Amino acid sequence: MYDYLIVGSGLFGAVCAYELHRAGRSCLVIEKRPHIGGNIYTETIEGINVHKYGAHIFHTSDKETWEYINRFAEFNSYINSPIARYKNECYNLPFNMNTFTKLWADVLTPEQAKARIEKERGERYSEVPQNLEEQAINLVGQTIYEKLIKGYTEKQWGRPCNELPPFIIKRLPVRFTFDNNYFNDRYQGIPIGGYTQIIEKMLDGIEVRLNTDFFDDRAYFAAIAKKTIFTGAIDRYFNYCFGPLEYRSVRFETETLDTENFQGNAVVNYTASDVPFTRIIEHKHFEFGKQPKTVISREYSAEWRMGDEPYYPVNDEKNNALYARYAELAEKDRSVIFGGRLGRYMYLDMHVVIQKARELATEEING
Ligand code: FAD
Ligand code: UDP
Repeated sequence: MYDYLIVGSGLFGAVCAYELHRAGRSCLVIEKRPHIGGNIYTETIEGINVHKYGAHIFHTSDKETWEYINRFAEFNSYINSPIARYKNECYNLPFNMNTFTKLWADVLTPEQAKARIEKERGERYSEVPQNLEEQAINLVGQTIYEKLIKGYTEKQWGRPCNELPPFIIKRLPVRFTFDNNYFNDRYQGIPIGGYTQIIEKMLDGIEVRLNTDFFDDRAYFAAIAKKTIFTGAIDRYFNYCFGPLEYRSVRFETETLDTENFQGNAVVNYTASDVPFTRIIEHKHFEFGKQPKTVISREYSAEWRMGDEPYYPVNDEKNNALYARYAELAEKDRSVIFGGRLGRYMYLDMHVVIQKARELATEEING
């Protein structure tokens, strides 16, 4: 009998397994996919590390978490600076002086940019924004909303901006400096050689069974360990007894091209509504690659249906209330702990996943 059954070999499961194993607990990790790593998995194509389940940039302001992840890989100095493409125009993101001066020929200084945005908000300023459209207009005014936000957001979420919660856009920085860094965090980078090595090192010496779905034999798995750490979908665990939680899914169309440099940047967002995909990732630029070929992925956002890969939880009121009912059920069963992005039904960046997994492991180890 194992001390812990860990369902899922993503970052959450792997950090838990690593910490518990180090503390002398026996662990079995099961993973339904044919590989470890969950959504941070990278695979090598033409010598390029391809982020198979979406582009992943590590960023944090927490020194301890940064030092922790650096134990498992060396990080490069990549700074995420996406480009927004609207029809035949390219703009820098996040919204900053480079964006404003390109958009408005008569804007050259921060003061002029602020005045222009003020004018663009005009009558449409909302004291307390009720939805994403109102929030966006408050932040950057009408033109940027229409060119760089509306189309992208509606493609990404499959809902009109005036029906989406304001907080989604709040995390996008707006700056009055010429600074294209997408994140405000102190530490940022990409692991040289990809993310999979990180998970491999964490799981070194731990028994892992791939192509193994917990639900194929849940009675057997429930009996095999004293406790289960479950990082799959919480609603599925409880047989959807209150109904399924909603997600947004993404379809990736990955292509190898016989060209050295396709778009000159790792991330280009397509913000117009008549382009069906949301963005194109050119993977080599994450590691400043010089390979003769290139690999790109077009991302198509889609409504999640049963059997699809769930990517983004839809944390609106309805789904959060539903999740709360599942969380209440989970509280009653002391033999299983839910964690990670599917277990907690929460969009979690990697650094937060590491912090939460370490906290859980510490609690378990100290009893
Ligand atoms: P997952 O990686 O989903 O791992 C869960 C694992 O459990 C999976 O391998 C799954 O196959 C397995 N599993 C599920 N059910 C079962 C079952 N029944 N039996 C066996 N195995 C099962 N974070 C950042 O910090 N920076 C970024 O740039 C960034 N970009 C992202 C882009 C996208 C498109 C997405 C979706 C997320 C992004 N994230 C980013 C978040 C990051 O992916 C997560 O923080 C991290 O992957 C969460 O790890 P996890 O272990 O909780 O979940
Ligand atoms: N967003 C946008 N235009 C862009 C990039 C982002 O309108 O070019 C909005 C969109 O609503 C998105 C939100 O900002 O959902 C957050 O963007 P971020 O890139 O942080 O989202 P991610 O894709 O990483 O979840």
